[in-house]
Amino acid sequence: MSTRDVLIIGAGAAGSTAAFHLAKRGKKITLLEKNKQIISKPCGGGMASSVQQWFPFDLKPIVEESIKQVEFSWCLSDPIIANLQNSEPFWIVKRENLDEFLRNQAVNSGAELIRPFKVQKLEKHKNIWRVYAEDGRELESKAIVIADGSASPWPRKLKLGPQKQHHASTISIRLKGRGNLREGTAKFEFGLVHHGFAWAFPMQDEISLGIGSFLGENSKINTDSILEKLLPNLGFEIGDGEKIKTSLRVWNGHTNIHGEGIVAIGDAASLSDPFLAEGLRPALMSGYEAAKCLNSFLDGEINDLRSYSKIMKVKWGDSMAWGKRISQVFYRFPKLGYQLGIKRPTAPKRIAQILSGEMSYEDIAQRVIKRLIFSG
Ligand SMILES: Cc1cc2nc3c(=O)[nH]c(=O)nc-3n(C[C@H](O)[C@H](O)[C@H](O)COP(=O)(O)OP(=O)(O)OC[C@H]3O[C@@H](n4cnc5c(N)ncnc54)[C@H](O)[C@@H]3O)c2cc1C
Repeated sequence: MSTRDVLIIGAGAAGSTAAFHLAKRGKKITLLEKNKQIISKPCGGGMASSVQQWFPFDLKPIVEESIKQVEFSWCLSDPIIANLQNSEPFWIVKRENLDEFLRNQAVNSGAELIRPFKVQKLEKHKNIWRVYAEDGRELESKAIVIADGSASPWPRKLKLGPQKQHHASTISIRLKGRGNLREGTAKFEFGLVHHGFAWAFPMQDEISLGIGSFLGENSKINTDSILEKLLPNLGFEIGDGEKIKTSLRVWNGHTNIHGEGIVAIGDAASLSDPFLAEGLRPALMSGYEAAKCLNSFLDGEINDLRSYSKIMKVKWGDSMAWGKRISQVFYRFPKLGYQLGIKRPTAPKRIAQILSGEMSYEDIAQRVIKRLIFSG
């Protein structure tokens, strides 16, 4: 059996990004994907255009819409409008298109893609990793990238990422047509969802509607009663669209996301934002950073992969630590949070900066938390 440099488990956004950057540097890479066909993933598809920094090719061909304005509401009234005109754009993509685009870039750069290949077992013999598919196929490599998303069993087994995992409950709906959503406008509704919010993002011929609840696995989303109000407000009929329920693993503390010859990236590494469910930016960032570190490791320039965990802490985790605190305060006292956090005169600008990736939670959190606590 030939030994690959790296086997990547999961050919989603994170795995395909890592595969592209490793293959581009001449490493022998195989991407393993359990699904034979391209499937539509439950994801709003909103991402800061600053993700372009991690790719030498243009992402614009897959951008469905560039958001210029964000509308916030509390129980579908009390609107606040944030203008993004002076910020870096916020993009909406169709998730299946993003994943396919990145996968193709990886394959065109020399990565091998095997699908379907559902990884069932993973073990290490001396310095070589062995990966087994559920149908008995077996592959081996010098290093492993865990990129199989929110339901990945490996981080817990291999002690990568938080051992106490935290999940947001989500509902995702794709609606045919644009309803009354204006071009270049995304909507966030905070009052209707217990411990969370709902969003509506426009695409060329569809709307991506979602509901997320963030304060624990037992968060109950009263989907029907929310949709009864939300759908007509957006110009759709009650009952339109197919609902997909998922659980999203979110950031839950600073931890190592590397082991010996192995790293976790994207949702498998619990990187998604615990306040706004932003997971694409950290998925792409971690794919890029993991590949950079693995390249040096495979070239013998470094002895271990700890610099990957370190850089992700500085570039993402430190901000998420504040995102988690904000989430815990905001979603416990959402009305107050809306009044004091979102309705402030400076808030629309700050929100635009967060969505565009120009500003981190860390940059603004001290002020927000102080304000919430002292006004409560
Ligand atoms: C409802 C909802 C809305 C969201 N909206 C947004 C948004 O608007 N903006 C944003 O930034 N983030 C959003 N997110 C978060 C974002 O979707 C995730 O963070 C992102 O998908 C993470 O990418 P990933 O590559 O880590 O994981 P995934 O996209 O889940 O990819 C994992 C891949 O691994 C494969 N796989 C799984 N198990 C195996 C196995 N055993 N063997 C082989 N392959 C396997 C899967 O088939 C999949 O292709 C949303 C999430 C949800 C649930």
